[in-house]
Amino acid sequence: MSTTILGIESTAHTAGVGIITSEGTILSNQRSVYIPEEGEGIHPREAANHHSEELPKLFKKALDEANLSSKDISLVSYARGPGLGPCLRTGATAARAFAYSNDIPLLGVNHCVAHLEIGLLEGAKDPVLLYLSGANTQVIAYAAGRYRVFGETIDIGIGNGLDKFAREAGMGFPGGPKLEKIAEGDELIDLPYSVKGMDLAFSGLMTAAKQKLESGYSLGQLAYSVQETAFAMSCEVSERALAHTGKTELVLGGGVACNSRLREMAMTMASERGVKCFVPEKALCVDNGVMVAWLGHQMMNADYQITEEDNVVNQRYRTDMVEVTWR
Ligand code: AMP
Ligand code: MG
Repeated sequence: MSTTILGIESTAHTAGVGIITSEGTILSNQRSVYIPEEGEGIHPREAANHHSEELPKLFKKALDEANLSSKDISLVSYARGPGLGPCLRTGATAARAFAYSNDIPLLGVNHCVAHLEIGLLEGAKDPVLLYLSGANTQVIAYAAGRYRVFGETIDIGIGNGLDKFAREAGMGFPGGPKLEKIAEGDELIDLPYSVKGMDLAFSGLMTAAKQKLESGYSLGQLAYSVQETAFAMSCEVSERALAHTGKTELVLGGGVACNSRLREMAMTMASERGVKCFVPEKALCVDNGVMVAWLGHQMMNADYQITEEDNVVNQRYRTDMVEVTWR
């Protein structure tokens, strides 16, 4: 029997409500992004205020677009972490209010695992995920009952790094797509390439780029060089994860995976290794409610038993804390 699942995303800057069927047909993907004031980073409480104002509208828009009423929904799934505390609590409150008032089961899921699972909807079976988002940067693959983190950032997320450099260069949020637009040239400016074992560091790279900007290098060339360096680092670690696990599929996820140059580099690396590269559409790469709904469905479909702990938010809910029972 076909069922319909509603998912709520609120871990950071994006409030999202998505609706998907148990067959994987996306009925709606409504999003609203909190944009900090010019020159500022994300204020967790202001982002949460944004979400509490937007979520009721997003519920309505999603149900309207899907041409459904709340009684057609068989599961409410929300991202219980990792993320910013006030944002998580706002999403959880909205999820509880909607689920309890309509007598629908409620399940809190892991945001990073949701990014991975939506990639499987593209047809990948057992991939390495290169997950590049604002706050998170991880290379993930399934092994022995869990999604294991093979490599990750040891300081800031790649997207937050791009946003920070862009902000310092006088560009608004989100900086990643703005840098992509102005990236030009083919002359690589030397910047720190920090791959440590399987881990990555972006902070020094962004600081060096800012210093080079102040000493007169062109912004377009720096944007180009930051992208080339940060993306090459990310592809290198992914390639090593592919080599180590012997997996033959690569999936891209996270907002930075919207970047055309990153996509091109990942596809080149994959094709040179004989690996298939899956690139979800942009609306599914960025934070969204659809991926949250889809993961909730995967779990319940495998007879997952909801516990009380599943409905408590967890700011530090790591990818490898989730026992993967649905594969
Ligand atoms: P997420 O946290 O997964 O929703 O992703 C948000 C992050 O993705 C922000 O840091 C954005 O700057 C970044 N981002 C979005 N589009 C692009 C792009 N085209 N190039 C680089 N970064 C991007
Ligand atoms: Mg994300």
